[in-house]
Amino acid sequence: MKQHQARKRFGQHFLIDDSVPEAIVRAIAPRRADNVVEIGPGLSALTAPLLGRLDALKVIEIDRDLAARLRQAYPPERLAVTEADVLDVDFSRFGPALRVVGNLPYNISSPLLFHLMDYADQVRDQHFMLQREVVDRMVAQPGDADYGRLSVMLQSRYEMEKLFDVPPEAFDPPPRVVSAVVRMMPLPADRPRARREGTLSATVARAFAQRRKMLRRGLGDWAPHVPWERLGIADSARAEELSVAQFIALADALDEAGA
Ligand code: SAM
Repeated sequence: MKQHQARKRFGQHFLIDDSVPEAIVRAIAPRRADNVVEIGPGLSALTAPLLGRLDALKVIEIDRDLAARLRQAYPPERLAVTEADVLDVDFSRFGPALRVVGNLPYNISSPLLFHLMDYADQVRDQHFMLQREVVDRMVAQPGDADYGRLSVMLQSRYEMEKLFDVPPEAFDPPPRVVSAVVRMMPLPADRPRARREGTLSATVARAFAQRRKMLRRGLGDWAPHVPWERLGIADSARAEELSVAQFIALADALDEAGA
């Protein structure tokens, strides 16, 4: 088969160190009948070892040439190829207890993580390779320098664990950054959740737009009726100090106040 020239616009960096896909598959620990969907299979570095452990696998690939290769290499009952931009894909069609995996194109990682939040209720877990800096933001805690919108929004729906780092040399072409693998498990349904995710998102965005400013002053005009004392948010509190639970309570209070 002819050589594939990596396409920069699709964020293509192919894994060439076999020990990395092996470590990812070990972390996923798939069982044969699991409902797994892989985002961006590329040249099959992760797809092949996954298929070795599964009866069937679904993949989503935007690159027409790579999708065609995959259809040639595997029968459709083993590998179901969706040729599409993953951001346009309605994951509800893949069914319940979904396990989502992928060495993701880094240029769309944040929009993709937010897109997948819409389907968190039908997802069992997600294992992704991302830029390490993004993983650090995902798992950051209040007070950490990289605690921000991504941390709060994702932690409001998932428990997350950074698993291991992957150096640039593991890829061809090597990216300019270190990568890391993260596990995301949707929180159980009985955990407090924002009444309206849109309000939480707007609140968090506003709060972190001025992360060092005192929150009550920063949000005061926008949110005049918030019972700050009842929420336990001090006069001097800054966005970067608020826990995820406090952000959820704040968003719910805004909804109650009809903001
Ligand atoms: N999984 C392969 C590996 O580990 O070697 C390839 C990983 S590469 C970082 C990202 C893959 O995602 C490429 O195959 C690329 O074509 C694909 N991709 C990029 N943007 C995409 C999008 N919007 N929707 C679906 N696939 C995409």
